[in-house]
Amino acid sequence: MHETVTIRGNAEFINSTIKGLELLKEQAPDAYELVMKHIGDIVSGKPSGVFPDMLWLGPTFVIMGPSYSEGSPIEYAGALAHEAYHCELYRKAERNNPSSSVEPNAYSGEHAEGLCLQYQCDVLRRLGLDESEIKEYANGLHTRWWEVPFERRDW
Ligand SMILES: [Zn+2]
Repeated sequence: MHETVTIRGNAEFINSTIKGLELLKEQAPDAYELVMKHIGDIVSGKPSGVFPDMLWLGPTFVIMGPSYSEGSPIEYAGALAHEAYHCELYRKAERNNPSSSVEPNAYSGEHAEGLCLQYQCDVLRRLGLDESEIKEYANGLHTRWWEVPFERRDW
């Protein structure tokens, strides 16, 4: 059903990932398309994140931690949309300037995280998440999570 993406993890992880993908497919098909277009592997692990700088090799992989895969399916789906949007930003920058390599701030850092978060909130709204919870996400930008060192990320 999600033939272009490989899900790597235990049965529980695979099940919740399929559930998240189904939600996107049904209620936010544009986000589902982004995942299918950019992500080759969804891997169980920590910390969660995506590797857009590997997109020049083809579809990249995303790591998803238990805080998403063992949490609410809607929020897991929203997180997948967020990570896929990082990749979309990479591809956009590449299209806009094909002669040079993509600058990291095109797909990471404060501006990029703001755009990804905005997209994530838009998807969460379509998936039916409570407006108060969406607001919490939207306010999260000030925590500057992307500046937390890799080894201290617990999500
Ligand atoms: Zn992000």
